[in-house]
Amino acid sequence: MIEKLYWLPAGKLSSDYSALNLNVPPGQMVTIPIWVFLLVTEDGPILLDTGMPESFINNPDYFKGTPYEGRIIPLMERDDHIVSVLKKVGYSPSDMIAVINSHLHMDHAGGNPYFPDTPIYIQQKEWEIVKQGISAYAPPECLLPNLNYTIVEGDTEPFPGLQLLSTPGHSPGHQSVLVTTKKTGPILLTVDMAYTRSNYEEGAPFFTYDYRQARQSIERIKQKMEGIQPSIIFFGHDIDQGAVQQVYPIFY
Ligand SMILES: [Zn+2]
Repeated sequence: MIEKLYWLPAGKLSSDYSALNLNVPPGQMVTIPIWVFLLVTEDGPILLDTGMPESFINNPDYFKGTPYEGRIIPLMERDDHIVSVLKKVGYSPSDMIAVINSHLHMDHAGGNPYFPDTPIYIQQKEWEIVKQGISAYAPPECLLPNLNYTIVEGDTEPFPGLQLLSTPGHSPGHQSVLVTTKKTGPILLTVDMAYTRSNYEEGAPFFTYDYRQARQSIERIKQKMEGIQPSIIFFGHDIDQGAVQQVYPIFY
Protein backbone atom coordinates (compact mmCIF):
# COMPACT_ATOMS: atom_id res chain seq x y z
CA MET A 1 0.00 0.00 0.00
CA ILE A 2 1.20 3.49 -0.84
CA GLU A 3 1.38 5.92 2.09
CA LYS A 4 0.77 9.11 0.15
CA LEU A 5 0.27 10.25 -3.42
CA TYR A 6 1.03 13.86 -4.36
CA TRP A 7 0.19 15.71 -7.56
CA LEU A 8 3.08 18.00 -8.54
CA PRO A 9 2.61 20.54 -11.35
CA ALA A 10 5.64 20.71 -13.65
CA GLY A 11 4.99 23.54 -16.10
CA LYS A 12 2.78 23.83 -19.13
CA LEU A 13 2.82 23.42 -22.88
CA SER A 14 0.93 25.46 -25.37
CA SER A 15 -0.50 22.95 -27.81
CA ASP A 16 -2.87 22.90 -30.72
CA TYR A 17 -6.24 21.90 -29.31
CA SER A 18 -6.70 19.34 -32.08
CA ALA A 19 -4.03 17.17 -30.38
CA LEU A 20 -6.54 16.69 -27.52
CA ASN A 21 -9.47 16.17 -29.83
CA LEU A 22 -8.87 15.40 -33.50
CA ASN A 23 -12.51 16.25 -34.28
CA VAL A 24 -11.67 19.93 -33.72
CA PRO A 25 -10.08 21.71 -36.68
CA PRO A 26 -6.45 22.72 -36.07
CA GLY A 27 -5.44 26.30 -35.38
CA GLN A 28 -6.65 26.90 -31.84
CA MET A 29 -3.89 26.93 -29.23
CA VAL A 30 -4.57 25.91 -25.63
CA THR A 31 -2.40 25.68 -22.53
CA ILE A 32 -2.16 22.17 -21.15
CA PRO A 33 -0.85 21.15 -17.73
CA ILE A 34 2.20 18.91 -17.27
CA TRP A 35 2.17 16.62 -14.23
CA VAL A 36 4.54 14.50 -12.25
CA PHE A 37 3.47 12.41 -9.26
CA LEU A 38 5.24 11.55 -6.04
CA LEU A 39 4.42 8.31 -4.25
CA VAL A 40 5.60 7.99 -0.67
CA THR A 41 6.19 4.38 0.40
CA GLU A 42 7.62 2.74 3.53
CA ASP A 43 10.85 2.19 1.64
CA GLY A 44 11.16 5.70 0.24
CA PRO A 45 9.73 8.00 -2.41
CA ILE A 46 8.94 6.97 -5.99
CA LEU A 47 8.51 9.42 -8.84
CA LEU A 48 6.08 8.95 -11.70
CA ASP A 49 7.40 10.84 -14.74
CA THR A 50 10.10 13.51 -14.76
CA GLY A 51 8.52 16.41 -16.69
CA MET A 52 10.10 18.53 -19.41
CA PRO A 53 13.82 18.86 -20.23
CA GLU A 54 16.10 21.64 -19.07
CA SER A 55 16.41 22.78 -22.70
CA PHE A 56 12.75 23.97 -22.56
CA ILE A 57 13.36 26.41 -19.69
CA ASN A 58 12.48 29.96 -20.78
CA ASN A 59 12.70 28.66 -24.34
CA PRO A 60 9.31 28.98 -26.08
CA ASP A 61 11.18 28.93 -29.41
CA TYR A 62 12.55 25.42 -28.86
CA PHE A 63 10.60 24.03 -31.82
CA LYS A 64 11.22 26.94 -34.15
CA GLY A 65 12.29 25.65 -37.57
CA THR A 66 10.91 22.14 -36.90
CA PRO A 67 7.60 20.58 -38.03
CA TYR A 68 6.24 21.45 -34.56
CA GLU A 69 6.82 25.17 -34.86
CA GLY A 70 3.64 26.95 -33.77
CA ARG A 71 1.99 23.67 -32.70
CA ILE A 72 3.93 22.94 -29.51
CA ILE A 73 5.32 25.77 -27.40
CA PRO A 74 7.04 24.97 -24.09
CA LEU A 75 5.93 27.22 -21.22
CA MET A 76 8.52 26.24 -18.67
CA GLU A 77 10.40 28.15 -16.01
CA ARG A 78 13.29 27.03 -13.82
CA ASP A 79 10.75 26.29 -11.05
CA ASP A 80 9.05 23.73 -13.29
CA HIS A 81 12.15 21.59 -13.73
CA ILE A 82 12.13 18.28 -11.86
CA VAL A 83 15.01 19.29 -9.59
CA SER A 84 13.11 22.41 -8.47
CA VAL A 85 9.81 20.55 -8.25
CA LEU A 86 11.34 17.92 -5.94
CA LYS A 87 13.17 20.55 -3.92
CA LYS A 88 9.85 22.23 -3.11
CA VAL A 89 8.70 18.99 -1.49
CA GLY A 90 11.95 18.43 0.38
CA TYR A 91 13.66 15.91 -1.85
CA SER A 92 16.51 15.71 -4.29
CA PRO A 93 16.53 13.34 -7.29
CA SER A 94 18.93 10.91 -5.58
CA ASP A 95 16.38 10.36 -2.78
CA MET A 96 14.05 8.54 -5.18
CA ILE A 97 14.15 4.77 -4.80
CA ALA A 98 12.61 4.39 -8.27
CA VAL A 99 11.31 6.36 -11.23
CA ILE A 100 8.42 5.20 -13.38
CA ASN A 101 8.25 6.60 -16.91
CA SER A 102 4.75 6.29 -18.34
CA HIS A 103 6.45 6.80 -21.72
CA LEU A 104 9.35 8.79 -23.12
CA HIS A 105 7.71 11.86 -24.65
CA MET A 106 9.10 15.36 -24.11
CA ASP A 107 6.83 16.19 -21.19
CA HIS A 108 7.22 12.89 -19.31
CA ALA A 109 10.89 11.93 -19.46
CA GLY A 110 12.69 15.27 -19.84
CA GLY A 111 14.17 15.16 -16.34
CA ASN A 112 15.60 11.65 -16.75
CA PRO A 113 19.26 12.86 -16.94
CA TYR A 114 18.96 13.74 -13.24
CA PHE A 115 18.41 10.09 -12.31
CA PRO A 116 21.60 8.41 -13.54
CA ASP A 117 21.56 5.57 -10.99
CA THR A 118 17.91 5.29 -10.01
CA PRO A 119 16.03 2.27 -11.37
CA ILE A 120 13.77 3.65 -14.13
CA TYR A 121 10.80 1.45 -15.00
CA ILE A 122 9.78 1.47 -18.66
CA GLN A 123 7.96 -0.95 -20.92
CA GLN A 124 9.95 -3.06 -23.40
CA LYS A 125 8.54 -1.18 -26.42
CA GLU A 126 9.77 2.17 -25.06
CA TRP A 127 13.18 0.61 -24.44
CA GLU A 128 13.27 -0.27 -28.13
CA ILE A 129 12.81 3.43 -28.93
CA VAL A 130 15.73 4.26 -26.61
CA LYS A 131 17.89 1.74 -28.49
CA GLN A 132 16.92 3.28 -31.83
CA GLY A 133 17.72 6.66 -30.36
CA ILE A 134 15.16 8.62 -32.39
CA SER A 135 11.65 9.77 -31.67
CA ALA A 136 9.97 12.84 -33.08
CA TYR A 137 8.42 13.64 -29.70
CA ALA A 138 11.45 13.06 -27.52
CA PRO A 139 14.36 15.47 -27.23
CA PRO A 140 17.71 13.69 -26.64
CA GLU A 141 17.32 14.06 -22.84
CA CYS A 142 14.39 11.63 -22.97
CA LEU A 143 16.25 8.83 -24.74
CA LEU A 144 19.49 8.45 -22.82
CA PRO A 145 20.75 4.89 -23.37
CA ASN A 146 22.94 4.58 -20.28
CA LEU A 147 20.43 5.02 -17.48
CA ASN A 148 19.56 2.29 -15.02
CA TYR A 149 16.46 1.03 -16.84
CA THR A 150 14.30 -1.75 -15.45
CA ILE A 151 12.45 -3.12 -18.46
CA VAL A 152 8.99 -4.53 -17.85
CA GLU A 153 6.49 -6.11 -20.19
CA GLY A 154 2.73 -6.06 -19.70
CA ASP A 155 0.96 -5.49 -16.40
CA THR A 156 3.11 -5.74 -13.31
CA GLU A 157 3.22 -4.65 -9.66
CA PRO A 158 6.83 -3.67 -8.91
CA PHE A 159 5.91 -2.25 -5.50
CA PRO A 160 2.92 -3.16 -3.31
CA GLY A 161 0.07 -0.83 -4.25
CA LEU A 162 1.74 0.38 -7.45
CA GLN A 163 0.56 -1.40 -10.57
CA LEU A 164 1.88 -0.64 -14.02
CA LEU A 165 -0.73 -1.27 -16.71
CA SER A 166 0.42 -1.74 -20.27
CA THR A 167 -1.59 0.74 -22.38
CA PRO A 168 0.12 1.06 -25.77
CA GLY A 169 -1.28 3.27 -28.51
CA HIS A 170 -0.42 6.84 -27.60
CA SER A 171 3.17 5.62 -27.73
CA PRO A 172 4.36 2.07 -28.50
CA GLY A 173 5.16 1.20 -24.87
CA HIS A 174 2.91 3.50 -22.90
CA GLN A 175 1.95 2.42 -19.39
CA SER A 176 -0.70 3.78 -17.05
CA VAL A 177 -0.48 3.49 -13.28
CA LEU A 178 -2.93 2.22 -10.70
CA VAL A 179 -1.96 3.44 -7.25
CA THR A 180 -3.66 2.16 -4.10
CA THR A 181 -3.17 4.53 -1.19
CA LYS A 182 -4.02 4.22 2.50
CA LYS A 183 -6.21 7.30 2.46
CA THR A 184 -8.02 7.12 -0.88
CA GLY A 185 -7.86 3.51 -2.11
CA PRO A 186 -7.37 2.81 -5.81
CA ILE A 187 -6.51 5.77 -8.05
CA LEU A 188 -6.05 5.38 -11.79
CA LEU A 189 -3.52 7.69 -13.39
CA THR A 190 -4.18 7.15 -17.08
CA VAL A 191 -1.33 9.48 -18.02
CA ASP A 192 -1.45 9.72 -21.83
CA MET A 193 -3.53 6.61 -22.42
CA ALA A 194 -6.19 9.35 -22.47
CA TYR A 195 -5.30 13.03 -22.57
CA THR A 196 -8.78 14.02 -21.44
CA ARG A 197 -11.98 12.69 -19.92
CA SER A 198 -13.64 12.90 -23.31
CA ASN A 199 -10.92 10.70 -24.86
CA TYR A 200 -11.69 8.10 -22.19
CA GLU A 201 -15.44 8.38 -21.78
CA GLU A 202 -16.66 9.51 -25.18
CA GLY A 203 -13.99 8.08 -27.43
CA ALA A 204 -12.87 11.48 -28.74
CA PRO A 205 -9.81 10.73 -30.89
CA PHE A 206 -6.54 12.38 -29.86
CA PHE A 207 -2.86 12.37 -30.68
CA THR A 208 -1.71 8.76 -30.89
CA TYR A 209 0.99 6.62 -32.45
CA ASP A 210 -1.53 3.87 -33.25
CA TYR A 211 -5.14 4.90 -32.86
CA ARG A 212 -6.66 1.40 -32.95
CA GLN A 213 -4.26 0.20 -30.29
CA ALA A 214 -5.00 3.29 -28.19
CA ARG A 215 -8.74 2.54 -28.34
CA GLN A 216 -8.10 -1.08 -27.39
CA SER A 217 -6.04 0.01 -24.39
CA ILE A 218 -8.79 2.35 -23.20
CA GLU A 219 -11.43 -0.37 -23.58
CA ARG A 220 -9.30 -2.91 -21.73
CA ILE A 221 -8.66 -0.54 -18.83
CA LYS A 222 -12.30 0.56 -18.65
CA GLN A 223 -13.29 -3.08 -18.31
CA LYS A 224 -10.64 -3.73 -15.68
CA MET A 225 -11.75 -0.67 -13.71
CA GLU A 226 -15.33 -1.95 -13.50
CA GLY A 227 -14.11 -4.47 -10.96
CA ILE A 228 -11.86 -2.01 -9.13
CA GLN A 229 -13.98 1.16 -9.05
CA PRO A 230 -11.14 3.64 -8.50
CA SER A 231 -11.97 6.70 -6.37
CA ILE A 232 -10.20 8.94 -8.88
CA ILE A 233 -9.45 8.58 -12.58
CA PHE A 234 -6.98 11.27 -13.54
CA PHE A 235 -6.20 12.04 -17.18
CA GLY A 236 -2.85 13.07 -18.63
CA HIS A 237 -3.59 16.57 -19.89
CA ASP A 238 -7.22 17.39 -19.13
CA ILE A 239 -7.42 21.18 -18.79
CA ASP A 240 -10.68 21.31 -16.77
CA GLN A 241 -9.76 18.46 -14.45
CA GLY A 242 -6.24 19.79 -13.97
CA ALA A 243 -7.52 23.26 -13.07
CA VAL A 244 -9.34 21.98 -9.98
CA GLN A 245 -6.89 19.26 -8.94
CA GLN A 246 -5.46 19.69 -5.46
CA VAL A 247 -1.70 19.58 -5.41
CA TYR A 248 1.09 19.29 -2.82
CA PRO A 249 0.90 19.60 0.19
CA ILE A 250 -2.52 17.97 -0.18
CA PHE A 251 -2.11 14.22 -0.53
CA TYR A 252 -4.40 11.37 -1.46
ZN1 LIG B 1 2.75 11.71 -24.59
